[in-house]
Amino acid sequence: MLPLGRSLVLRSMRGVIFNIQKYSIHDGPGIRTTVFLKGCPLSCLWCSNPESQGMKVQVLWNESECVRCRSCLDRCPEKAVTVETDAIRINHLRCTGCGACCASCPGKALSLTGEALSVADAATACLEDRVFYEESGGGVTLSGGEVLAQSDFAEALLTCLGREGIHRAVETSGFAPPAVFTRLAARCDFILFDLKHHNREQHRQLTGVYNDLIIANLKAALDEGRPVLPRLPIVPGCNDSLADAAAYTDLLTALGAREVEILPFHQFGKHKYRLLGRDYALRNARSLQGEDLIPFAEVLKRGNIQVRGY
Ligand code: SF4
Ligand code: SF4
Repeated sequence: MLPLGRSLVLRSMRGVIFNIQKYSIHDGPGIRTTVFLKGCPLSCLWCSNPESQGMKVQVLWNESECVRCRSCLDRCPEKAVTVETDAIRINHLRCTGCGACCASCPGKALSLTGEALSVADAATACLEDRVFYEESGGGVTLSGGEVLAQSDFAEALLTCLGREGIHRAVETSGFAPPAVFTRLAARCDFILFDLKHHNREQHRQLTGVYNDLIIANLKAALDEGRPVLPRLPIVPGCNDSLADAAAYTDLLTALGAREVEILPFHQFGKHKYRLLGRDYALRNARSLQGEDLIPFAEVLKRGNIQVRGY
């Protein structure tokens, strides 16, 4: 195989990545590097990575670092920066992500999120930690955003890592045409598959899309015997009732799932909405602890669905 830096495809194909997080321990087995890709066709009310939803590089504004000098307004070639009631606002449709405003900001209040990286560069960053993967049974997880939104890049990166003998996982909502999902799934050693709501209409209301494709892809993955772990992000007032647990149990049983992980809602991403100048519908929602969901987990377990950690 060609060294990473010498393959034309690996050097020329680029993906937009907003974080490469080392030493992750919650995104699959062992110690992992999690690569967060930008772009997502869903818009979940509780999204903890709102900066991941748009595919483009975006500007974040940290109000507490801003000295209100207004030099960013003058430096923007696209006239994308304005002031509204003492707050800097970025028109994300106009913004090209050139970074001129960030470079001119004396308070370091502005920063870019997202960077176009080649497959070779992303793989090289991951391979730096090969020794940790080998010692812990870990590897690399692609997350997002939604990995399937940059499926060609993700597929190339997973293929490249597979050739290096690295364990590969993805975190996905499964929202993609079946052919796209199947192509990516075939390059994974583990699939963390988020099932956001059991009910078709409520799924649309809470995430912006129906769950038909998602359920079809999850069923196909289970039927094909792929190493898939369904995960249920549980959010107060959205899908946390015992009736929801019973409906999830029925659906998962019908799909042939035998084990799930439940993900209690948290508020770790709350501040990011402010950095993006966006409203956050769940800003007052209560974070859940693992013990809050014991009754929920019991319903699943009574239906013969194992629940990790419960
Ligand atoms: S990144 Fe460039 S285009 Fe976007 S707001 Fe800043 S200066 Fe304007
Ligand atoms: S350049 Fe930076 S410090 Fe000055 S107004 Fe803009 S964001 Fe605030």
